[in-house]
Amino acid sequence: MDLRKKCLSVERVFEELDRLICAYKNKNKIDCLPECKGECCKKEDLYTTVLEFLPLAFFLHSEGISEKIFAESELNRDSTCVLYSEETGKCLFYRHRGLICRLFGFSSIKDKNNRLQMVTCRWIKSAYKDSVVLNPSNIIMLDYQRRLSLIDTTYGTKLTHVNKSIKTAIELVGMYLKYNRI
Ligand code: SF4
Repeated sequence: MDLRKKCLSVERVFEELDRLICAYKNKNKIDCLPECKGECCKKEDLYTTVLEFLPLAFFLHSEGISEKIFAESELNRDSTCVLYSEETGKCLFYRHRGLICRLFGFSSIKDKNNRLQMVTCRWIKSAYKDSVVLNPSNIIMLDYQRRLSLIDTTYGTKLTHVNKSIKTAIELVGMYLKYNRI
């Protein structure tokens, strides 16, 4: 499948997921807390696929800022995601964030007894204890990871640190645009 078509397929999965997450958040009056100051964007084990950053990479190329973000991701000072802004405490490209950025906080895994366990942070667990324990999200993390892996069995499965994934996605889209101009 053509890389742009793969990007559109990823965006379709994201749109569906965002609708479900929004509904869960509204129903349970639960959301991220500003006090966390991007803790999940600074995790050392923030591993992602390249595929989930294709929409971001196409956007960065279309805006002419791919080289800037690529250079910043190469510096790789620490584990903080290159898209996180300390200044605003937010993701610089929230609309184009990855799959894990959408799932973390508001999705679940199933334990060995088939019970839902929310995959979320200490802030949400503490502020919304009742929702997390009594009404966990029925958005299953693995289902969405599988759906992306079916779009591309290589770039949708191999996990690398978020900054490396972003860098590879920018490179991949750069090559695609260079050799597939219409
Ligand atoms: S892409 Fe955005 S939301 Fe995801 S880890 Fe990076 S800064 Fe955080």
